[in-house]
Amino acid sequence: MAEKNNRLMARLKPAAAAGFVGFSYFLLAHLGVVYTVTPEGIAIVWLPNAMLLAVFLVSPKQYWPVFAGAALLAEIVADVPAFPLWAALAFGLINLSSVTLAAFLLRRFVDHQFSFHRFRHGLAFLLIGPLLAACLAGLFGALVYLGLGRADTSYLVLWRTWWFGDALGMLLLTPPLVVIARLGRATWGWPGWPALAETAAVLALILFITNHAFLPAAETTHGHFLTPVLVVPLLLWLAGRYGLIVTSIGVGLVTFQAIRFLRDGLHPFREASPTFVVWQLQEYLAAVAVAAVGLSLLVRELRRQQGQLEENEAALRAQRNVLEERVRARTRDLRRANRELHELNSRLANYATTDELTGVPNRRAFRERASRYLERAATSGSPVTLLMLDLDHFKKINDGHGHAAGDTVLRAIVQPMRDALRPGDVLARTGGEEFVVLLDDTSLSQGVGVAERIRAGIEEREVHHEEQVIRLSASFDVAQWNGAESLNELLDRADQAVYQAKNRGRNRVEHLHAEADEPTS
Ligand code: GH3
Ligand code: MG
Ligand code: MG
Repeated sequence: MAEKNNRLMARLKPAAAAGFVGFSYFLLAHLGVVYTVTPEGIAIVWLPNAMLLAVFLVSPKQYWPVFAGAALLAEIVADVPAFPLWAALAFGLINLSSVTLAAFLLRRFVDHQFSFHRFRHGLAFLLIGPLLAACLAGLFGALVYLGLGRADTSYLVLWRTWWFGDALGMLLLTPPLVVIARLGRATWGWPGWPALAETAAVLALILFITNHAFLPAAETTHGHFLTPVLVVPLLLWLAGRYGLIVTSIGVGLVTFQAIRFLRDGLHPFREASPTFVVWQLQEYLAAVAVAAVGLSLLVRELRRQQGQLEENEAALRAQRNVLEERVRARTRDLRRANRELHELNSRLANYATTDELTGVPNRRAFRERASRYLERAATSGSPVTLLMLDLDHFKKINDGHGHAAGDTVLRAIVQPMRDALRPGDVLARTGGEEFVVLLDDTSLSQGVGVAERIRAGIEEREVHHEEQVIRLSASFDVAQWNGAESLNELLDRADQAVYQAKNRGRNRVEHLHAEADEPTS
């Protein structure tokens, strides 16, 4: 049922549209026939074609035949009171052919969605509609007039009058109708009182001027000032500010006024021949329409391009924002990664230079710092003393209490060493239970004093492990750098001396003079 209804609606719609098109065509044709002034009955402005062309430009092609049929019927009904049936039929067919040709060419070669939104649409329309299609229609229309035998003017005059009548109608009516048909609902908006007032004022001014301008110059006191040319700036004003539809209303008003006066035999031209007057008026109206409609189309195109530019700019801005945000995020990530890398690096450097068990510098770190101290001392000449210590019977602690106890012991002796040292001294664990200290700016005797303090500190120390108390002692050697030997040589020398201390009973401090090779006690 619903589907049947839909199908019915689908059929009714074009039928209703065709009825509307036919009725409009009839009204406009009737207007054209009634408002003719030439002796032959050719309209000054022929509007039905213009309306039908607009319909063809905006409607699906499959509806063209229905609309064409309606238009043909309307043409015959409108013409028959004034013309024989065969002539009415011929007029209808000529008009239909011209409109179909123009609509076909414009949609086929310019734009299927023909809209007047682009200036090239306007140019193509001018060439194909008013210039080509109307001209061709005039060629055949004039033949029919000759056939009617009413004309006392030449074929060329008839042709030109028809051509200009059709062309004027197209210039006047087709563009605004197409634009209105293409307007989306959202585009209709309240223009605001100032715009309405301005438009009304300009139209009133046009009305005032045309009320005087189309009178013969002799019949009006204003005639010399209010000439038909004066409406041109006013129409251009409308075109520049209010667009195509308002401009077309203005041009329509001028056209209506011109024809109204002409029907009463009034016109501003000196020549009295009706044919000539019609020509002059058609030329004037065509020039006015082309200028005003052309300018409004140009403004329309400019506005469209500006809108496009603004859209592009907005899109670019949005894109740039996205990119900038991405760069910011990337930079944040990089900074974080950099920080993490730095932390990792310093941790790694720490690992590489620190003894894991005791937390004091390892042999590698000792070598680096000690070498720098020796270099400095070589230039400054200040004394440097090396202190080396080795825990006594450490193996026994390991064997007797376990390796863990040994580790605890190693950690425990660091504090007494630190207690005896200054911040600038370089302490390091160089082997299993061997430690060294480089004492900067320290003489041998001062070094021996430091060693003694450490030795006493270790001796006093009690290490508690699993409810047992472990007592410790260490053997020391103190050696003064002789100013020339390498760090290795100094370390070797001290190492030898530690053996002496062990041999001499442990828990004691041996020392080596810088010059002396033999340890003394
Ligand atoms: P001396 O009095 O002659 O110095 O005898 P000692 O037992 O102290 O010396 P020795 O060189 O014979 O033994 C040192 C022991 O230290 C051997 C090794 O198992 C142990 N050791 C080395 N490094 C570590 C460590 O990191 N932890 C523990 N618990 N023991 C270690
Ligand atoms: Mg040892
Ligand atoms: Mg030992």
